[in-house]
Amino acid sequence: MNPTPPEALRPLLAQADVLDHDASLAAQVVPALGRSGVLRVGVPREHGGDGGTTGDALETIASVAAHSLTAAFVFWGQRASIEYLLQSPNAALRALWLPRLLAGEVAGATGLSNAMKFLSGLEALQVQATPEPRPSGAALHRLDGQVPWATNLRPQGFLLAVAVERRDGGPAFIAALPSDRAGLQRSDDLDLIALRGSNTASVRLTRLTLGEADLIASDARAWLPAVRPAFLALQCGLSVGLARASLAAARAQGGPARSVLREPLARVEHGLAEAVAGLKQGLQTGQFAAQPVPLFEHRIALAHLALAAVQLELQASGGRAYHRDAPLGFARRWREAAFLPIVTPSLTQLQAELDKRAAALARDRAAVPAEISGA
Ligand SMILES: Cc1cc2nc3c(=O)[nH]c(=O)nc-3n(C[C@H](O)[C@H](O)[C@H](O)COP(=O)(O)OP(=O)(O)OC[C@H]3O[C@@H](n4cnc5c(N)ncnc54)[C@H](O)[C@@H]3O)c2cc1C
Repeated sequence: MNPTPPEALRPLLAQADVLDHDASLAAQVVPALGRSGVLRVGVPREHGGDGGTTGDALETIASVAAHSLTAAFVFWGQRASIEYLLQSPNAALRALWLPRLLAGEVAGATGLSNAMKFLSGLEALQVQATPEPRPSGAALHRLDGQVPWATNLRPQGFLLAVAVERRDGGPAFIAALPSDRAGLQRSDDLDLIALRGSNTASVRLTRLTLGEADLIASDARAWLPAVRPAFLALQCGLSVGLARASLAAARAQGGPARSVLREPLARVEHGLAEAVAGLKQGLQTGQFAAQPVPLFEHRIALAHLALAAVQLELQASGGRAYHRDAPLGFARRWREAAFLPIVTPSLTQLQAELDKRAAALARDRAAVPAEISGA
């Protein structure tokens, strides 16, 4: 499957350079995604979706990423937020927000980079909850802290997912914060080198009131590994789409480098097809929840393949890629590609996690007595 984005999205995607370059179209992205129906792909029908699989959603994100990584990353943030609610035990929260997220009426922002790093033991949580005693006995928290990066913080209204550490020693939890809640302050857009139409900013929380009704999951450590396969696999759609676009652009060049590049192009195309197939198979069998190693490896491999594809596009295009007036989109894809290694979990974080797991495995093997291991 290598789908094209729906007709309804085409006018927006035709403005990919503007989306990358400034925020003038930022308010249009989420409503356009909602109207086009792409947000419903891979969402069960009983929850207002079109059915299908997470693999279908990955392909749909890839189809958008082939035109605009800004639109695709906003799509990812919105779709990941939808996934959090689908996998939340809080049915009332889901009923309240899911229809509006699916319709693109409210933006879904995911401030969970920090949480994913926390899960891997890389970083402490940056939002803290202080319990507030109440006569009724119902739990209430005051939240303080910051989310240094979040995309899709649409000034017209958003729901932000954050991971929260409890000062009373209870398990960290995941909360959904509406943008109009007192104590939530969005910064101006961050001054980025690309993806500037993505509503990316930081958020400060000051004594924000939070109740049980706002909880996506009451135990972050138990919930995050279950949602991580969809979180990461949908993120892979960014690399897949960008790689396909650059490979197509490289193939379309008829210049003198054609014969030299034939083999590396075929290699990257083959690697891409294999990685996408492996990713979809792992999603289908559900193996990634218990065995995240192959999922991490696919995410690393796909980002490298996308970077290689952009390099090949450059080499196939030669000096034309350097002309500002050339309608090749190369300069934008070059900047877009710079995002792929650093989006959390970044390639270095994933590699560190793989190294850690490999070292633990080697230690375990070394600890097995020779007569049991057969050595
Ligand atoms: C355009 C854009 C949009 C973003 N949107 C979101 C969003 O919607 N939600 C969100 O939560 N975040 C978002 N982020 C943040 C992003 O996901 C990363 O968290 C951020 O780029 C990491 O950079 P840092 O400067 O915080 O890394 P630092 O923690 O300062 O680390 C510097 C480098 O070292 C690596 N590193 C850090 N610790 C380790 C370790 N223990 N082992 C190996 N490598 C390590 C990092 O990956 C990074 O490459 C966004 C970032 C950008 C650029």
